[in-house]
Amino acid sequence: MTTTRWLAEYAWLPDDPEPTADVLIETIGGRITAVTPLADRAAPAAGVEVLADAVRLPGLTLPGLANAHSHAFHRALRGRTHAGRGDFWTWRDLMYTVADRLDPDTYLALARAVYAELALAGVTCVGEFHYLHHRPDGGRYADPNAMGAALVEAAAQAGIRITLLDTCYLTATVDGRALTGPQRRFGDGDAARWADRVEAFTPAGDHARVGAAVHSVRAVPADQLDAVVEWARRHDAPLHVHLSEQPAENDACRAVHGRTPARLLADHGVLGPTTTAVHATHLTSADVGLLGGSGTGVCLCPTTERDLADGIGPARRMAEAGSPLSLGSDSHAVADLFEEARAVELDERLRTRQRGHFAPAALRDAATVTGHAALGWADAGRIAPGDRADLVTVRLDSARTAGVPPVGVFFAATAADVTQVVVDGRVVVRDGRHTTVDVPAELVATIQAVISR
Ligand SMILES: [Zn+2]
Repeated sequence: MTTTRWLAEYAWLPDDPEPTADVLIETIGGRITAVTPLADRAAPAAGVEVLADAVRLPGLTLPGLANAHSHAFHRALRGRTHAGRGDFWTWRDLMYTVADRLDPDTYLALARAVYAELALAGVTCVGEFHYLHHRPDGGRYADPNAMGAALVEAAAQAGIRITLLDTCYLTATVDGRALTGPQRRFGDGDAARWADRVEAFTPAGDHARVGAAVHSVRAVPADQLDAVVEWARRHDAPLHVHLSEQPAENDACRAVHGRTPARLLADHGVLGPTTTAVHATHLTSADVGLLGGSGTGVCLCPTTERDLADGIGPARRMAEAGSPLSLGSDSHAVADLFEEARAVELDERLRTRQRGHFAPAALRDAATVTGHAALGWADAGRIAPGDRADLVTVRLDSARTAGVPPVGVFFAATAADVTQVVVDGRVVVRDGRHTTVDVPAELVATIQAVISR
């Protein structure tokens, strides 16, 4: 295989507090093989010849962004849920009407468009927290993993990697009420049958891997948690769980189990370095200690948390306690990891009336290397030899970014400023356009198909 040379006007290299100017990045196939700041080159005369064939990357080149928490079908609700009042629970009723209408074919088409939108935003890997497993009446498809397979195929067609976080979802409430109505298709009956179904699923393509998820303490009874943990640990798979997004969930958990959701998860071995708690919005100090002390990651989804009036999680305290932070677009109310990243800092400012909680490089890590690690891709999210050849280039000459120093990009850029995206060595976005998917047209067509039926 031949070497491809990319010459980045600026590149943000691992462990550096700021981007570096004029960096030569060499890739072979899907891997980065060498990273050389031109200022470090010993023999400029020899370099002229090498650089003649380099692909120029004007602007700032970042590692691939990882969207560690997605529910692809929620994208159909964007902009449709803002009339009247309501809260998370009324929004959820609307979301269920969309969930009820999807089948493997329509979900493939919708998710392909959603993941292509993510690619345009610089996302090279998505963690899909997937629980639309079965037919709307709860019956199995001929292939019981047909819906998961559709999502894996959608990611392939959109040109990004996916960790399918196959989600165990068994009950409607913390006190164990049965799934009814639109929730019936989420359920496998019990965790053993969930594990059997997941065990039988081998995703097609080396762009995909399977992880596990506990939907929440609402949806997985305490005596079923251990089986999910066992499956995840046996497969060395990432394990994700929605945690304390809503005070009502905490109240119900205390009433039934006499402890917080974080404590319940800790008592059943759910927490640990390969586990990611999603949201972690309403925590006690002891909960923060349980997460951080066990090295459990936390995936913050600030644009969804604000959209659903969830609240602001204790991001700084969780990071200080030892939880690596990652980011997710969750409901896709917004698909922009720059916005998610700066919200981590800016929400903390609103709460504390103090600035400067997270350095720019910390926000970059949340959007890149930590997110990839949370999804089980330890070899992605850094511009470093041996890592996957994911390169996301952000223009510094748009109306938003002009005059902004490269280190300020997470406070200035939007997804619209991403000009080129390389995933595993393949160009997926060029000149701000997806190379194979007409993203707006496919979004319109696929959303109309599930909204207006
Ligand atoms: Zn979620």
